[in-house]
Amino acid sequence: MSVPERKISYKIPEPTLRRLPWYLSCAKLMRSQGERYVSSTHISRQINIDSSQVAKDLSYVAISGRTRVGYEVDSLIAVLEEFLGFNSMHKAFLFGVGSLGSALLQDTGLAHFGLEIVGAFDINPDKVGSVISGIPVYHTDKFSEIMQKDKVNIGILTVPISISQEITDVMISHGIKAIWNFTPFRIRVSENIVVQNTSLYAHLALMFNRLKDELKNEDL
Ligand code: ATP
Repeated sequence: MSVPERKISYKIPEPTLRRLPWYLSCAKLMRSQGERYVSSTHISRQINIDSSQVAKDLSYVAISGRTRVGYEVDSLIAVLEEFLGFNSMHKAFLFGVGSLGSALLQDTGLAHFGLEIVGAFDINPDKVGSVISGIPVYHTDKFSEIMQKDKVNIGILTVPISISQEITDVMISHGIKAIWNFTPFRIRVSENIVVQNTSLYAHLALMFNRLKDELKNEDL
């Protein structure tokens, strides 16, 4: 009796989903070094995760390895990219072309991971009308009109926290379904909206805190 269909339709655990891009990077590194096969033990050593965990995580993406030699590197990369949605393009709009917003507009790496920013919005007259890395910057007032022309599901939020919620509401009311929130503000959305919080500043607090503990231990 075979049940592979059932396995693939399982909701993948979030920690697994967070680890899969690490395996992808590891496989890409190995390909660049001329390797044809990679085993879960090798991945596990490279990124310091238990090899049974690696094998379990990879079982979600429906790739099977060969005993002893492991996974074929090219197939592993292709399967992971497909599974993670990195090889199909997802269009996004960005709000707030400040230092962080414009850095994201200039980051060519995002396109390699399937994200294409097709337009940006700001209210600063010095920025509106400019083009950054080929991406036009419009006035926020134009959002409704531009959203009707282009089918975009993702909004990137890099505005000041004072207007994070307001801009979130505007995006959602015009049909944005997922928000990548780079502000340290906890935006409120209804359940059907996907939110990914990626505040650099919030992560800094974690690093400072752990560093403080480490330095304390050194002093002991
Ligand atoms: P700047 O480069 O202007 O100094 P900054 O990097 O210090 O900005 P913030 O002050 O957080 O960052 O502002 C981020 C961007 O958000 C700025 O370009 C600002 O003009 C823009 N912004 C402010 N209000 C809005 C709005 N309603 N819609 C879109 N963008 C906005």
